[in-house]
Amino acid sequence: MTPIAVYVHTPFCPSKCGYCDFNSYAMTGSIVDETVAAMIKEIQNSPWRGRPAKTIFFGGGTPTFLTSDQLLSILDAVVEAHPPIEDCEITSEANPGTVDATKFGAMRAGGFNRISLGAQSFVPEELTRLGRIHGPSEIGRAVHAARDAGFDNVNIDLMFALPGQSMRVWEQNLDAALALKTDHLSLYCLTIEPNTRYYKLHLKGMLDLPDDDQQVEMYEMACSKTAEAGLDHYEISNFSKPNMQSRHNLCYWRCEEYIGYGPGAVGRVGATRTTNLKHPNLYVSAVNAGEKLWCEREALDDEALRLERVMLGIRLSEGLDRTGLDAQAISALTKRGWLNVSSDRLHLTPEGKHFCSEVALALA
Ligand code: SF4
Repeated sequence: MTPIAVYVHTPFCPSKCGYCDFNSYAMTGSIVDETVAAMIKEIQNSPWRGRPAKTIFFGGGTPTFLTSDQLLSILDAVVEAHPPIEDCEITSEANPGTVDATKFGAMRAGGFNRISLGAQSFVPEELTRLGRIHGPSEIGRAVHAARDAGFDNVNIDLMFALPGQSMRVWEQNLDAALALKTDHLSLYCLTIEPNTRYYKLHLKGMLDLPDDDQQVEMYEMACSKTAEAGLDHYEISNFSKPNMQSRHNLCYWRCEEYIGYGPGAVGRVGATRTTNLKHPNLYVSAVNAGEKLWCEREALDDEALRLERVMLGIRLSEGLDRTGLDAQAISALTKRGWLNVSSDRLHLTPEGKHFCSEVALALA
């Protein structure tokens, strides 16, 4: 059987950040144990049981909101259902405010081999405004604790274009992240999503957001500083040491199949994309009653799959296979300076990276 990427969604967080539209809940008490038990049951009863795992990724929410015993009981179920291939990348996202040396030690011993830390900023006022539960010093402490526990593959997530953020402060954040010499950096521009506290503040004109030109300047600063630090810019928002790309995320960008477990988890096997029930209460009830778990199921036709392949693949520096794509569109985008063509692959130019969605829509 062909190996597949496995995503596990843990939906709990200590509190809800102001900008967050992920499927996450600040819930405590028995629902947490019930959800963990239901996730294990879902995995044990999976129709895809037996397909080997090429990567396993615990995201959320905050996976490390769970105890290491809870995390490892879920991981054990995944490993039993999906025997990992040799050298399988097994990642957990982690919030620096929810980890310590003991927890990382247990996670490493239990099979996790990659940590992705949600740092977001190194400036105390920015962290407070974002609603993060950790301070800057906890980020460095978490990186060192992960290294001491034996993790030789560590990522940091940072956000830019935060309210009131100047170029100087963004540079300070980048320098602080680079100084930790992690293996991978993910740098995301803040987007204001509906149904968030930030959205309401934005509508009231209470968020002083950097404008488009400033965002471009911040992104370009990130590109040049990461290059100076020797990181490879392998995806629009992602930078890594050589051979330390996120293999799990590469599966998404290469439009490969993936299975999703847990509340709100999305999976795509073949041409069918399913999304699980999102709220932990609904999810737990459905698992325990043996009812259907999905709330959305979509059969993707060839056109939808092609659009997805283009939208995701064009983000990668390895480029996109041009087979079957519109030659006229390729020529127009090349003349415009947004695309380079090398043999059979298409690559965004530095300018084209600012117009990724426009390029993808024109190509598909
Ligand atoms: S820690 Fe992450 S998932 Fe949880 S509320 Fe904050 S942004 Fe959302």
